[in-house]
Amino acid sequence: MSTQDCLFCKIVSGAVPSDRVYEDEDVFAFRDINPQAPTHILVIPKRHISSVADLTDSDVDIAGKLMVVASKLAGSCGIAGRGFRLVVNAGDEGGQSVNHLHLHLLGGRRLGWPPG
Ligand code: AMP
Repeated sequence: MSTQDCLFCKIVSGAVPSDRVYEDEDVFAFRDINPQAPTHILVIPKRHISSVADLTDSDVDIAGKLMVVASKLAGSCGIAGRGFRLVVNAGDEGGQSVNHLHLHLLGGRRLGWPPG
């Protein structure tokens, strides 16, 4: 898929509207349109990376930054103290439906384990 066809690239560019909660030069975060918990935020790189499975050694900085931003958002959303979960789905069996790398930040309720 080209970045022109990518839903999350369109969200980054503003071509598709989103409920943005954070943005810097590398990272964009917005509320999931179909939340699975009281807090459900997607944290994505602005640059198109299709999947966590496609990360390379040159992506170490952005991969780390996604985690740091997600952790800070958990704090600013008030869920860090209670606990939260970061999820990255990859590929068909992993449940990935949008082929642009994204971290799900989930919290605000007790989360079950193992996941479905
Ligand atoms: P995944 O299934 O891990 O690829 O996650 C994709 C997520 O994107 C799902 O939780 C969807 O609810 C969410 N999603 C799809 N379209 C939008 C949109 N336009 N705005 C916000 N979230 C979306």
